[in-house]
Amino acid sequence: MLNLVLFGAPGSGKGTQSAKLIDEFGLHHISTGEVLRDHIRRETDLGKIAKQYIDEGQLIPDELMISILDDVLEKEAKGKDGVIFDGFPRTIPQAEALKGLLQKRGTDLHAVVGLEVPEEELIERMLNRGKETGRADDNFDTIKKRLNVYHSQTSPLRDYYNKEGKYLKINGSGIVDDIFNEIVEGIVRKTGVARRK
Ligand code: AMP
Repeated sequence: MLNLVLFGAPGSGKGTQSAKLIDEFGLHHISTGEVLRDHIRRETDLGKIAKQYIDEGQLIPDELMISILDDVLEKEAKGKDGVIFDGFPRTIPQAEALKGLLQKRGTDLHAVVGLEVPEEELIERMLNRGKETGRADDNFDTIKKRLNVYHSQTSPLRDYYNKEGKYLKINGSGIVDDIFNEIVEGIVRKTGVARRK
């Protein structure tokens, strides 16, 4: 089993690197942002609630987000070799909950990959993504709010996982494949897992 968290500010490349990592280590990818956007597209009750928070650049309340993740794990992660959590946890209570959710399934979190990228680059990347994909929350005002939320509520997790010896600091600026290689080497070093290829 290999369970990883892809951690970093919005726009730090979590989605891009997750897609490459699932291939490398044969993992299941859970992006909580994607789960919520899927509900919005399908216009479910949950989607209607989520949209109000996402449009404002705010986090979905912990209790709701944790129960959504529990459901997704139940439906999607059984029998898999491990999971990449992309965009979860985003608060300390979510990190505590993740510990419990993994424990109850007889497993644990092995490493937290922290993609560190300067703020100007984050903003530029998200504005470009907004133009290319039409993603609704990638506009300047909402980006600013999301970065504030990241600094106040999510960035404390860096210390939290550092203390647990799980945080793997990665320079997330530069060429995608170089960053990926640095991540893979770090994971192999930290967890002892073998590369697939
Ligand atoms: P992302 O695709 O990870 O950037 O997430 C997009 C938006 O979905 C965030 O700005 C939040 O509003 C919401 N969201 C995603 N993951 C979480 C989470 N773990 N906790 C609370 N809200 C979340």
